[in-house]
Amino acid sequence: LQTHSLSLSLQAKMSRPVQARRLEGTDKNIWVEFVKLAATYSKVNLGQGFPDFPPPDFLKESFVRALSGENHMLHQYTRAFGHPPLVKILAQFFGKLLGRDLDPMTNVMVTVGAYQALFCCFQALVDEGDEVIIIEPFFDCYEPMVKMASGTPVFVPLRLKAPKDGKLISSADWQLDPAELASKFSERTKAIVLNSPNNPLGKVFSREELELIADLCVKHDVLCISDEVYEWLVYDGKEHIRIASLRGMWDRTVIIGSAGKTFSATGWKVGWTVGPNRLLQHLRTVHQNSVYHCATVAQEAVAQGFQRELELYGKPDSYFVQLPKELQQKRDWLVQSLDAVGMKPIIPEGTYFLVADISKFKSDVPDVPDSDEPYDSRFAKWMVKNKGLAAIPLSAFYSGAHKNNYNHFIRFCFAKEEATLKAANDILQKWKQEKTRP
Ligand code: PMP
Repeated sequence: LQTHSLSLSLQAKMSRPVQARRLEGTDKNIWVEFVKLAATYSKVNLGQGFPDFPPPDFLKESFVRALSGENHMLHQYTRAFGHPPLVKILAQFFGKLLGRDLDPMTNVMVTVGAYQALFCCFQALVDEGDEVIIIEPFFDCYEPMVKMASGTPVFVPLRLKAPKDGKLISSADWQLDPAELASKFSERTKAIVLNSPNNPLGKVFSREELELIADLCVKHDVLCISDEVYEWLVYDGKEHIRIASLRGMWDRTVIIGSAGKTFSATGWKVGWTVGPNRLLQHLRTVHQNSVYHCATVAQEAVAQGFQRELELYGKPDSYFVQLPKELQQKRDWLVQSLDAVGMKPIIPEGTYFLVADISKFKSDVPDVPDSDEPYDSRFAKWMVKNKGLAAIPLSAFYSGAHKNNYNHFIRFCFAKEEATLKAANDILQKWKQEKTRP
């Protein structure tokens, strides 16, 4: 009897819910599944967004100097809200871009990648019941991060304009409907998340589009969380416009950036926020009570990288000038290979991602009408398993109810060595030949 009651009391303890309620519905993560599939089956991985080429030499050398130089204090804690040399140079750099004086101590905060910057924003600024507008398709972590802060995500889509006959679609053909966007703003709206250049489409929002968003933010007293991690990756002479530079926006915007994307070193996980102290002071509260600190050596090296870029600003030797040039060439290669096999690419104006239409390949992976899984997801899984080519389904960038809105596109990352892009081209060519063979 004694053993029986002991086991009952143990069972009772173990049946208590262990998961905090705020995590409900946020447990699934597409990257876990697709990163594993790519690791298991891919010969060529154009899935997850990271370069397979090295960061620039000057950056690696800065890291080595920081690591093995005389200043051994670089192995210890530094200032919690950002290593002083890094916040100083970021304040100088972004001050120049925004045309305003920035205080390194109050207008800049360094984070563990842009990911933690986003997390700090939602935790610091979103309350229970607050609505946060997210433009679809979106970098997938925005939705669970809003939910973990007890906020309610409200989605507004970029809609694809009907393509002109025969012409390739551009990311600029995905547009907000102004009336639809306006209808999402209410007194419950606390913030809007803007991601320009946008992952996954590569859309670079135009001045008119940004003004539309800015006017609504000002009218409804809404904050803007502006994820600008791909700010330097803009092509064809397009301009990246910072929404914080528009009238009435500085005081209500947090700009988010990433050294990972800026210097092709995603594993360093150095990111930052730039904004008014009235917002950043609350981000600092979240940061000091969670992560507290980002690796000192990496911050020192990124500071040196920015120092160099400030000196070379706008000059041909600047990495921020060279990288987009190289990536534009890679984009064009991938566009050509995809177009040649009939996987219609949507030409991105920015980022290192490209979305392509897989409709012509539907005979290879037939639809299962009653399946819960969107077609593009099954297609991407089939493609990596059978062709060894990894990509990410576009539905991964839509919220649950909208996953089937555009379910015949997949996203490729083209921040890859020439050899990787050639290998992808070989797979696509061979696939096309097999398809056309009687
Ligand atoms: N925002 C966007 C739009 C991204 O694509 C990514 C990385 N894929 C991040 C934020 C996160 O950046 P980091 O690696 O610096 O955390």
